[in-house]
Amino acid sequence: MNRQQAQNMCETRKIKVLELPLTGGCACGRVRYEISTAPIDAGYCHCGLCRLTTGAVMLAWATIPIHGFHYTSGEPSVYPSSAWGERRFCSHCGAQFEYRAQKNPSVVDVNIGLLDRPELVPPASHVWVEDEVPWLHIQDHLPRYLGRGPDI
Ligand SMILES: [Zn+2]
Ligand SMILES: [Zn+2]
Repeated sequence: MNRQQAQNMCETRKIKVLELPLTGGCACGRVRYEISTAPIDAGYCHCGLCRLTTGAVMLAWATIPIHGFHYTSGEPSVYPSSAWGERRFCSHCGAQFEYRAQKNPSVVDVNIGLLDRPELVPPASHVWVEDEVPWLHIQDHLPRYLGRGPDI
């Protein structure tokens, strides 16, 4: 995806980032990171692997071009959560930072909840809705996709 396509995607999915860099880190503060490039997608994931690795019933994530994502202090641990991807987390407090898919090494899906200002990156869709827990009823008007939704 080139820059223009990324920009179009931001506009079509209504992702607005007011200021860069974005910063974030885990609960204990040992691992910190910085995001210097605008997200190209953001959403809620309802899949079972996000649920199992975070303990939350859904996960809000933002897709960042990998060159715009850097750890600035500490070193995350890596968990191979499936045959096709891995997650990084703090080995001290357990907070999960991000997900990387082997087939798309140019991006990283950062967990919005660990941003210092998560309000700057609103999710724009729901994915893997077939795995949503049945008592969860989110009253928004965002698009809902089976599986991971359309490619970006
Ligand atoms: Zn930590
Ligand atoms: Zn997921």
